[in-house]
Amino acid sequence: MNDERRAELAANLADVRARIAAACAAAGRAPEEVTLIAVTKTFPASDVRLLAGLGLTQVAENRDQDARPKAEATADLPLTWHFVGQLQTNKARSVAGYADVVESVDRTRLVTALSDAAGRAGRTLTCLVQVALDDREGRGGAAPGEVPVLADAIAEAEGLRLGGVMAVAPLGGDPAEAFGRLAGIAARIRDSHPGATVVSAGMSGDLEQAVACGATHVRVGTALLGGRRAIVR
Ligand SMILES: *Cc1c(COP(=O)(O)O)cnc(C)c1O
Repeated sequence: MNDERRAELAANLADVRARIAAACAAAGRAPEEVTLIAVTKTFPASDVRLLAGLGLTQVAENRDQDARPKAEATADLPLTWHFVGQLQTNKARSVAGYADVVESVDRTRLVTALSDAAGRAGRTLTCLVQVALDDREGRGGAAPGEVPVLADAIAEAEGLRLGGVMAVAPLGGDPAEAFGRLAGIAARIRDSHPGATVVSAGMSGDLEQAVACGATHVRVGTALLGGRRAIVR
């Protein structure tokens, strides 16, 4: 059973790596410029362990109640945990206990909460500003005009490090157009924060467009792990 799953994950991983390599070649970029993050939400810790065995080091989850036990169950592995879901301030303390990167920072109150939590935990959290690329409410992300202020707040906060920006392409929109806008926002943030080099964009369905627009990190769930049983958001 485990061997079968391992073979399935290995084949999926080879496919995804080939897609990233092809997208990099088409964009004139080196494949090492793009980091693959496995989004393991709804899948068991045993899959995280198998992926780590296949050489993956970056893992993402979007719900604290699922992420925490998985991170604890795999604490012996050399993994970097990314939190990519909408985050309530009252979960900041829990997330700061295991996450290395919080990709979904979209308001100043969350910056304050994460800074406090990082201080208590004695850890440094890398934070990305999540940018809303559509006007739809409820999917998280700061309006593009709010991004510079949030970036400054993270950069100045004790215990936090500004990594860059993250976005999800709008539902039903043109991902290339949306990721192009994200690239412009990311470049403006780098003008004042040269170390904020991360552009986390692209998922199973649109990683090629994201790589073409300069993504440094792609977050891939379905194409690596298979279909999720329940749609969480
Ligand atoms: C689920 C999720 C992904 C991965 O999506 P897939 O389409 O399954 O690759 C990426 N980013 C975020 C924020 C997610 O919630």
